[in-house]
Amino acid sequence: MKQLIVATGNPGKLAEMQEYLRDLPIALELKPPEIEIEETGATFRENAALKATTVAKATGKWAIADDSGLAVRALNGAPGIYSARYGKSDRERIARLLKELENTENRAAEFICAVAIANPQGEIVLETEGKCQGEILYSAKGEGGFGYDPIFYVSTEKQTFAEMRSQLKRKISHRGQAFAQLIPLMGSIF
Ligand code: IMP
Repeated sequence: MKQLIVATGNPGKLAEMQEYLRDLPIALELKPPEIEIEETGATFRENAALKATTVAKATGKWAIADDSGLAVRALNGAPGIYSARYGKSDRERIARLLKELENTENRAAEFICAVAIANPQGEIVLETEGKCQGEILYSAKGEGGFGYDPIFYVSTEKQTFAEMRSQLKRKISHRGQAFAQLIPLMGSIF
């Protein structure tokens, strides 16, 4: 069983990753709380790599990190890498996004997730990026999920992320796509 440190202090994120990687002989562990990571990258990919490298170097172990967010076309890709910092709560973040978009007709948006794995020397050995296309609704719909899920409508499924069964969201989401690309590649290093 290979140990892999997840570059997050959030147990929910670890549980979610464990679910994606459950068929692999890998034990995930939260990063030690004293390791602080500054997300100073300009892209999701840079931030994921930065997090994985920092944690691998600090622990001397294999590390995995992800970075994700929502990019709205009419807002030139905002909130993008600032998705988590766009407001103080999910409610505020959604309200701000709807206000910025107002009645803009082009509601196209995509969720993006970058995943990176670093070796114990801190070198990035695997990187993938998954995307999921959708549209921003005019108001929230659905009770499930988190973050921007209630306003992100996926036309192929005719529902928002917040209305989807978690199994379906896991499969089609940006994170699901990123891990689907990652898993076959992991065989070469583990
Ligand atoms: P991260 O934890 O630094 O990757 O920040 C991701 C932020 O993007 C979260 O705080 C959410 O606001 C948003 N986000 C990422 N993925 C999703 C998703 O699947 N649904 C809703 N919001 C998401």
